[in-house]
Amino acid sequence: MSTLEIRDLHVSVANSDSTAEPINILKGVDLTVKSGETHAIMGPNGSGKSTLSYAIAGHPKYTVTSGTITLDGEDVLEMSVDERARAGLFLAMQYPVEVPGVSMSNFLRTAATAVRGEAPKLRHWVKEAKTAMSELEIEANFLERNVNEGFSGGEKKRHEILQLGLLKPKIAILDETDSGLDVDALRVVSEGVNKYKEREDGGVLLITHYTRILRYIKPDFVHVFVNGEIVKSGGAELADELEANGYAGYAQAATTGA
Ligand code: ADP
Ligand code: MG
Ligand code: MG
Repeated sequence: MSTLEIRDLHVSVANSDSTAEPINILKGVDLTVKSGETHAIMGPNGSGKSTLSYAIAGHPKYTVTSGTITLDGEDVLEMSVDERARAGLFLAMQYPVEVPGVSMSNFLRTAATAVRGEAPKLRHWVKEAKTAMSELEIEANFLERNVNEGFSGGEKKRHEILQLGLLKPKIAILDETDSGLDVDALRVVSEGVNKYKEREDGGVLLITHYTRILRYIKPDFVHVFVNGEIVKSGGAELADELEANGYAGYAQAATTGA
């Protein structure tokens, strides 16, 4: 049983004009994600959803100016990016990075070694990777390709979920894993997430702009995220309300301070 606890989190990002003040993006986020729970964070573009995921993962561009993040009581903000991964946090990025010259096969085994603390035995590893790949309907030659290089949007997202299945984190943050997927890829990717939830009893923080993925991955909690904070929380029914009415009412409430 694991708990990711975020309290009154404020995060800023350096202004590209380095003489100007940093820009405050997160303005007091409170959120608790436990094993076995799926939380959907839904909000308009530019509201700070990816900033939240980067702050949890430890991206150096994002500065936590106040507030806390803990995993099972341990101070996450004191940990390096690697330590966060070893502690059981996983981020599937909205825009996965290409790594030319590094094969998928090497990349995945290195990541598994780092997280598990020892290299998986080669024979077991190949079997494990191939099984996980076939569940995600990924072709075997994928392992020889360079990380994300020339991958289609759908292939990049399948690769993120392949990592999820192999690294078995305690809490997974999935940032717009649904974006750019056709219906078949969305189904396969969602099944991958649901298998992770069943097998690992993992906690999931599912960041999304659209309600579509929530037909496949059922959220226990839905949070409306506007202008750097959670403005409303509820159950799955809140997603239906957003589907019908959009974010407009919330965005207005946030800007007028109502
Ligand atoms: P979302 O994921 O909800 O679309 P983001 O977290 O990506 O939102 O961005 C929130 C706001 O912070 C946006 O106005 C965006 O332009 C700004 N922002 C995010 N990252 C950076 C950065 N590295 N440099 C400058 N501005 C940034
Ligand atoms: Mg965005
Ligand atoms: Mg984003």
